[in-house]
Amino acid sequence: MLFEPFRIKMTEPIRILSREERVKKIKEACYNLFLLRAEDVMIDLLTDSGTGSMSANQWSAIMVGDESYAGATSFFKFEETVRKITGLKYILPTHQGRAAERILFGLVARKGMVIPSNTHFDTTRALIEFNEALAVDLVIDEGKKPSVKHPFKGNMDLNKLEETIKKFGPENIPLCMITITNNSGGGQPVSLENIRETKRLLSRYKIPLFIDACRFAENAYFIKKREKGYENKSILEIAREIFSYADGCTMSAKKDGLVNIGGFLALNNEELAIRAKNMLILTEGFPTYGGLAGRDLEALAVGLNEVLDEQYLSYRIGQVEYLGNRLLEKGIPIIEPTGGHAVYIDAGSLLGHIKPENFPAQALSVELYIEGGIRTVEIGSVMFGKKEESGRFKPAPLELVRLAIPRRVYTMSHMDYIADVAGSLKERAEEIRGYRITYEAPHLRHFTAHFEPV
Ligand SMILES: *Cc1c(COP(=O)(O)O)cnc(C)c1O
Repeated sequence: MLFEPFRIKMTEPIRILSREERVKKIKEACYNLFLLRAEDVMIDLLTDSGTGSMSANQWSAIMVGDESYAGATSFFKFEETVRKITGLKYILPTHQGRAAERILFGLVARKGMVIPSNTHFDTTRALIEFNEALAVDLVIDEGKKPSVKHPFKGNMDLNKLEETIKKFGPENIPLCMITITNNSGGGQPVSLENIRETKRLLSRYKIPLFIDACRFAENAYFIKKREKGYENKSILEIAREIFSYADGCTMSAKKDGLVNIGGFLALNNEELAIRAKNMLILTEGFPTYGGLAGRDLEALAVGLNEVLDEQYLSYRIGQVEYLGNRLLEKGIPIIEPTGGHAVYIDAGSLLGHIKPENFPAQALSVELYIEGGIRTVEIGSVMFGKKEESGRFKPAPLELVRLAIPRRVYTMSHMDYIADVAGSLKERAEEIRGYRITYEAPHLRHFTAHFEPV
């Protein structure tokens, strides 16, 4: 029985727009959901990053935030919590995840170097490439096939990792990353066995292991539920074992920190930590606040404890799975099994009559808004399609629509509503038409592109 393990003490109204109003708004936004005003969205599933609700305990912690420039009490509470979970020695707060990545890769990545991962997140890859190093993704083959079921589709392929080390030479690999859960691979978890074996392999070549820890608690919950030997361990014990194999981590606290802004870089190597701290002072702030207010650190310390609660995680992962199951019941194809933070609809197969160059996933996203005021994100040929030099269109490997679920924001009846909206779209799927792009920027076009219906 799925049950929100909280009561709601404060509410925020949702403005209900009529269908005609939604048709008008999306047209004004040139059929790009990023260009809508949030107030015109009824259920916002654009991202789970920084969009969660804080608890009463976090809000009360905000009031005792210590805003001292140096040595603030709030910093020590934050540091103690991160150390309890990760066991890592040096802990540097940053304003969000990519700031930790920027500092780390600014120090270790340069031309000729290679940084392997199961799958690098966009900002991670972009920052590695900005420093002219090569980012390579080595997730297991099962992780790339939407219909293949596997309990840990985020696992690193150890054979490919060893080949990569031999090909480029361990001296050119300053570190290896593992993203938990594997965000770009559908929020799929990584097993503890895989993390342990990755560490063992890297140790033979003296390569440090860093964890992209944004969703470490969700990953730990999957380990508890799916990996033999962990059924009776607490989430904290599992998290501690995960981090015991790491030499460092980067974290966007906007996910499993249960806050709206924040992040950190944590590491064991003293020499690297000193250099990172100097960089932090240069671009983020003094090491006891790192771009955050004392109150942010205070709320984060509470959030990192709350996220370890198994009842919360059972509701969190259960809610995502529930939405996935409701969609499957209605015959809507999704990536299976559902991951930790989002459900991905396979728009390529639902709208098989729309050619990839007319963006079936974009068409589905627009229809979800028109039909039910739901904002999602296209992860298909708008985001990853390319025009080749010959002028031929090269589509993305998959046409997906991501429904990312913010933490502690929407109830189970909102999930039922989303499934019903998607269900009624399926009924009239053949009528849905594709789009063409009328304006696009040279990079990351999905954020600002304009479209028109074909
Ligand atoms: C969100 C995210 C980041 C970047 O964090 P920001 O706080 O958005 O800068 C890095 N890695 C993963 C896996 C993420 O999900």
